[in-house]
Amino acid sequence: MTSPPPGDYHVHTRFSDGEGEPGQCVERALTLGLPEIGFADHLAPRCADPNDEYGIGSAHVEAYVSAVREASARYSEIAVLLGVEADYVPEAEEEIAQMLAAYPFDYVMGAVHSVDGFSFDDPPNRDDRRWSDGAALYERYYELLGRAASSGLFDILAHPDYITLWGHAMRSDVSAAENEALRAIAAAGVAIEVNTTGVLDPAGRMYPAPGLLERAHRLGIPLVFGSDAHTIDQVGWSFGEGVILAMKAGYTSCLRLSSHIEEPLP
Ligand SMILES: [Zn+2]
Ligand SMILES: [Zn+2]
Repeated sequence: MTSPPPGDYHVHTRFSDGEGEPGQCVERALTLGLPEIGFADHLAPRCADPNDEYGIGSAHVEAYVSAVREASARYSEIAVLLGVEADYVPEAEEEIAQMLAAYPFDYVMGAVHSVDGFSFDDPPNRDDRRWSDGAALYERYYELLGRAASSGLFDILAHPDYITLWGHAMRSDVSAAENEALRAIAAAGVAIEVNTTGVLDPAGRMYPAPGLLERAHRLGIPLVFGSDAHTIDQVGWSFGEGVILAMKAGYTSCLRLSSHIEEPLP
C-alpha cells in the first residue's frame, strides 16, 4: 500500500457547515495514517452570502480557534493545523483582510463560491438562466480566481474549477480565461488543491479537471491535497485516486504545509 500524501488540508467541522468535532476528524486522519490535518472551516464576508449560516459566525471564530488548538495539543502524533476557507469577493478585500488578520491562522484557503453575487453552487441556482450564457459566467469566475490569487490574501486556492460542479455542457472554449487565472496563480506563488470529494458533486470528478491540473503543473504551481470533508468519514477521501490524478498531470511532489517543504508524491 502506498503511503498517503502528507496532509488533508481542507476539513470542515460543525463550526461551519460540517458535522464533526475537530477531535473526531483528527481520529479519522490518524486511522488513515495521515501525518497532518488542516481545518478550513468557512469564513465569509457578510456581503458574500447574506445567509451566512454556512460560515463560522463571527461570535464563534474564537471557539473554533480554541477547538483546533486543543486538538493540536491533544494529539502529538499528527500535526494539526489551523486554517480557514475564506470566500473571495473582490469588493470585500479589505474586510476579508481584517477578518484574517484577527486570528492566528496557519494558512488561508481562498475560494470563489459566487460570481457577482450569484451563488452558483446553490442547488436552486443549478438551472438558473445565467448558465445559458455559460461562457460569460465561466470567464468571470476565472477572472475572479486570478484576482483572488493576486490579492495576496490566500496561500492556497480551493477547488480551482469549482464553476464546473454541475457538469453543464460548455458552449464555448474558456481555456484562455483558465490560462490567465493560472498565470496569476503562478505569479503570486499561490498553491492549488486537488479536491477529492469533487467526485460527489454532480459533475462527478475531482477538482481541478486533468487538463487544468496539467497546465498548473507546467507553470510550477504548488499542490496540496484536500478532501473538503463535511463529515468525519470524508477526511482523506479517495486520496489514493487524488495522487494518481496529480501524477498523471505531471506532479511528482506536493506541499507539506507545516514546513512549506515539497515532498515527493507517494
Ligand atoms: Zn469551497
Ligand atoms: Zn470547503
